[in-house]
Amino acid sequence: MSDAGPLMEVSDLERSFILGEEEVRALRGVTFTIERGEYVALIGPSGSGKSTMMYQLGCLDTPSKGSYRLAGYDVGSLDDDELAGLRNRFIGFVFQSFNLLARTTAVDNVALPLRYAGVGMRERRARAREALDRVGLGHRWDHPPDRLSGGERQRVAIARAIVTKPALLLCDEPTGNLDQKVGQEIVRLFESLNSDLGVTVVIVTHDPAMARRARRNLKLVDGSLVHDGPPLEGH
Ligand code: ADP
Ligand code: MG
Repeated sequence: MSDAGPLMEVSDLERSFILGEEEVRALRGVTFTIERGEYVALIGPSGSGKSTMMYQLGCLDTPSKGSYRLAGYDVGSLDDDELAGLRNRFIGFVFQSFNLLARTTAVDNVALPLRYAGVGMRERRARAREALDRVGLGHRWDHPPDRLSGGERQRVAIARAIVTKPALLLCDEPTGNLDQKVGQEIVRLFESLNSDLGVTVVIVTHDPAMARRARRNLKLVDGSLVHDGPPLEGH
């Protein structure tokens, strides 16, 4: 698909879950657009629908109503294989729990998405080393996660997210398991990936300081978008 048009277009998007007799309306008609190269913080109280929205943006789930277009593709109309293809091509994920393979070296953890993409062994390792360099962990390439600190583990997870050179980085509470100083280093890393490589970044955060550093904040309350603009004081 072409590079013209916004990277992400969310239009009147709804997502409901049926729990027994009850319908949980996690997203209730949300509309926004994100352009290529933006750095956006997604904020809101616990249970407001942030993770549900990240699943939508990440093509891990599809809308109940309304639409989401990623790079022009209407995500709701795609089957599971097509969704997986879109994720592999466009998206890197970073979660609060680093989700690394425990007994596997940093470089092989980072190389994993390339294996799924059918890249050969030598090139996988070279590109994984490059991604580890990019996050400042080149010297730890042969360490397994249990010999790395929390911040270093998250750097490995970030290297794994960027190794396929995605247009979009989706981060759900990426500093939730880290102390403040290490969390700030991780945030600076996201900022540099955005400004140096032009990666579009959407980051879910509870941390007001982190949200203020983003140029744009999207705030959800009870599944509705209540703010879309510059950071709010003391949101
Ligand atoms: P947040 O990430 O902002 O804390 P979530 O997106 O996880 O919020 O959840 C929003 C609402 O949707 C909550 O009421 C939650 O219980 C509900 N919810 C999320 N996922 C599911 C699911 N798979 N099944 C049922 N309810 C869900
Ligand atoms: Mg959440």
